[in-house]
Amino acid sequence: MVDTMIISLILVMMFILGAVFGSFACCQAWRWRYHATKQKELGQWSVCMHCKKRIKWYDNIPIVSWLILRGKCRNCGKSIGIADLLSEIGLAVAFLMLSWAYLVPVLNNWTLLSLHPEFLAIQLAVFVMMLMMLVVLTVLAVYDAKWGELPVVLLTLAILFGAIIFVLKMKEVSLSDEADLLRSLGNAALGVLVLAGTCFVIYKASKERLMGGGDWLLALALALALADWWLALWTIFLANLLGDVIALPGAMKKKSHVVHFGPFLVVAFVIVLVLGNCLPLLIKVGF
Ligand SMILES: [Zn+2]
Repeated sequence: MVDTMIISLILVMMFILGAVFGSFACCQAWRWRYHATKQKELGQWSVCMHCKKRIKWYDNIPIVSWLILRGKCRNCGKSIGIADLLSEIGLAVAFLMLSWAYLVPVLNNWTLLSLHPEFLAIQLAVFVMMLMMLVVLTVLAVYDAKWGELPVVLLTLAILFGAIIFVLKMKEVSLSDEADLLRSLGNAALGVLVLAGTCFVIYKASKERLMGGGDWLLALALALALADWWLALWTIFLANLLGDVIALPGAMKKKSHVVHFGPFLVVAFVIVLVLGNCLPLLIKVGF
């Protein structure tokens, strides 16, 4: 067991790191938008979208600055938008929860794991890859929420991260028991079918009203990273539940029945990633 103080310190650090990356992800979404719509490059620094004035460093502290300024530009007083705050808090909480679910168990079993360095390396690599994938997913979620699109380059990047996590997980299985590999591959393939397949069917059947063409590719990235049909099923279930509760009432009112499903898929994915590693019940029912 590692000292509780050290664990707490690491979790606080991960929360701050997540907030910083959340701020970064939101900026990246804007950059992609400017790039895609061929508008003038915003340059290296964050500027206000309304008055184009550069934002001072002390007004650019993740979460804190937004709360102090109450979401308004200090110069022109126009709204910055809730997306910044949501992506900062969202990624901060996600980093914290994933560290708790994946990093803390590794630290607690460090002595045992260091006897098998290949397991230790794989588990740490999976954890780091998940964090990196989450940053890409946050950019996608912000982009989808704001402009209702999922840029292909970012989707490809997410699928790449998903594939790397998939390969690492399969490597871990083959290290512990070669005979389990085929079963795990089948399990992962079924997961892809459940998650990406469902999204693809909804996309085709609803003629892009309920789901866009990018959503099933996003789902493919998530399914690869999960590599488990039971977790995949939970993800699609939770995403639909969140979408129904949060987005549908608004979409109905506006009579534009377009629901941007990407953000809900990403949130559901994080919840399942965290719980999937903590609640044995959730996975042990499997296959
Ligand atoms: Zn301004």
